[in-house]
Amino acid sequence: MKISRRGFLGAGGLLGFLGVDLAPTKAWASQKATSVARGRLTTTICPYCAVGCSSIVTSEKKDGRWAVTNVEGDPDHPINEGTLCPKGASLSQMANGETRLREVLYRAPGASGFVKKDWGWAAKEIAQRIKKTRDATFRAADDKGQPLQHTTAIASVGSAAMDNEECWLYQKMLRSMGLVYIEHQARI
Ligand code: SF4
Repeated sequence: MKISRRGFLGAGGLLGFLGVDLAPTKAWASQKATSVARGRLTTTICPYCAVGCSSIVTSEKKDGRWAVTNVEGDPDHPINEGTLCPKGASLSQMANGETRLREVLYRAPGASGFVKKDWGWAAKEIAQRIKKTRDATFRAADDKGQPLQHTTAIASVGSAAMDNEECWLYQKMLRSMGLVYIEHQARI
């Protein structure tokens, strides 16, 4: 059926005359009584983009392990007022995804394959390597005696999967070590 512009506007006017309100309206996320009533509730900031929507995460213990069972917008937060975009609404997949790596895989220099390591080993190894490089390259001042207090031998590429609080802590740690090359993956 072909509708002319004049006909379309006329139909809109007729609907308004019949009492149908065509004005834009707000959509609100509804609190699911079932999800709020069970499990442990935690508020967090969506890590996916700079909007910074807040969500309420429901966790329940299943087979001895805590699992995310529901994610919904936080109605008390001034930014999103209970709403979440489709990406934010799928946040539970980040915690529950079947393909998510859950253990450390390490490939030694020159090796052709990965071997599994525990988290304690990885944390210690990373800390030792950072300290060694930082101490060997830290410059308190340049050749003219101007203060530098930095190292240019270590760079950091941040992650969009970090939330507000993690980013704050991460920045504190990097700046205290003297890093100046601090980037975010969204700018690459
Ligand atoms: S819910 Fe959507 S709009 Fe809000 S922070 Fe997450 S990705 Fe961004």
